[in-house]
Amino acid sequence: MSQLHDLTVAQLAAKLRSRQVSAVEAARHFLARGARHEALGAYLATNEEVTLGQAEAADRQLEAGSAGPLTGVPIAHKDIFVTRDFPTTAGSRMLEGYLSPFDATVVSRLSQAGMVTLGKLNCDEYAMGSSNENSAFKPVKNPWDTSRIPGGSSGGSAVAVAARLAPAATGTDTGGSIRQPASFTGITGIKPTYGRASRYGMIAFASSLDQAGPMARTAEDCALLLSAICGPDPDRDSTSLDVPAEDFSRSLDASIEGLRIGVPREFFGAGLADDVRAVIDAALQQYQKLGARLVEISLPRTELSIPVYYIIAPAEASSNLSRFDGVKFGHRARQYGDLLEMYKQTREEGFGDEVKRRIMIGTYVLSHGYYDAYYLQAQKIRRMIADDFRQAFTQCDVIAGPVAPTVAWKIGEKSDDPVANYLADIFTLPASLAGLPGMSLPAGSGAGDMPVGLQLIGNYFGEAKLLNAAHRFQQATDFHLRKPEGF
Ligand code: GLN
Repeated sequence: MSQLHDLTVAQLAAKLRSRQVSAVEAARHFLARGARHEALGAYLATNEEVTLGQAEAADRQLEAGSAGPLTGVPIAHKDIFVTRDFPTTAGSRMLEGYLSPFDATVVSRLSQAGMVTLGKLNCDEYAMGSSNENSAFKPVKNPWDTSRIPGGSSGGSAVAVAARLAPAATGTDTGGSIRQPASFTGITGIKPTYGRASRYGMIAFASSLDQAGPMARTAEDCALLLSAICGPDPDRDSTSLDVPAEDFSRSLDASIEGLRIGVPREFFGAGLADDVRAVIDAALQQYQKLGARLVEISLPRTELSIPVYYIIAPAEASSNLSRFDGVKFGHRARQYGDLLEMYKQTREEGFGDEVKRRIMIGTYVLSHGYYDAYYLQAQKIRRMIADDFRQAFTQCDVIAGPVAPTVAWKIGEKSDDPVANYLADIFTLPASLAGLPGMSLPAGSGAGDMPVGLQLIGNYFGEAKLLNAAHRFQQATDFHLRKPEGF
């Protein structure tokens, strides 16, 4: 029999329902694995008492026969979601020790579905980063090669799933933070259409881009989790869309015969590493074998997505992060003169370098005289990027390409070079700027035997189709079953 931690969410849920394993056993098993592999740096907080309490409640439901499809399955949350029972830091010194009085909507929905919270997962500070090296507390190591980064900003989430410390995790994706770490660690993750998942209780980075989503090992698991996460939250998030919750599992098995897969020319340019290109080419061939048709398309403003994103995201961040002034949340400087000095000193001590860099860039591009030249211009190009997708989706049903130009790089390799980090986001930023759903699924390995993810981008509200295409691929391949040695 396969070990408990090798089971997918769907498999574990079935075992829980048939009472072959109890929720308490499952929770204990994963807590023990988390502790054993602490050196990976995935967890920032756990609380055995809380976790086991939730597991006992799940067992009572399972016993009573009132369990749902996720009851008793453990999950861990990116530390960007506020939680009542665990401290929330957003990977920042600013919020060290902060306890929220409420749970984020995503967290409470998964808890209501009976999932058991294992703890909080490491991430880049305020989700700003692509390598998890911007966590104020510790880096996260990639279990496929612990000298490498796991990707970011949801690096802890990706590693918890890849190293089997949790069957699933939540992540957030502003410009690629679910898809890129999923790609770098060989797992499956999906960012839904902007507005599908409530942002209530998700510590804000760039509000017009931030979106939550699940990270797990299979598309089937992601569909189960996404169905529980999504749905309107009108009283708490004004950008949550009035689109009813869906069962994203409904069409997993549908045939993809005749599916038109758009292959954007600009995703295969000179910047794409050969090893990644070979994996993506092979994945596209696999799709042809499954009956899909490849259509060459163009997303002409792909390159512009980098400057556009790195104007808009910092602009919104500079505004969102103004709330961390030492008055209401978390850290306050001990030594200061007047009030202004208290603000300054608190922010100097509480924020890391990358966060400060973005606050400064954001403040600059929003300031009088520069607003028109930078921010407004970026907004216009953002609209054009969305129009390019609209045009592309007249020719195809889904879009496929690489998630990132390379496999995961070495820890430290780009840590002194913010622009090198920004450039690596080129293939995930376009869908974020357009608000489209996107996912990453394991497609093979590249240099150093490191995992490579295939990115699928869907039209607005096309999540079920994306998950269907991903599931069919996983039925025909075994890349998602590979696991790092020793885990
Ligand atoms: N890497 C991108 C950034 O640093 C995206 C991060 C994210 O999606 N949260 O902003």
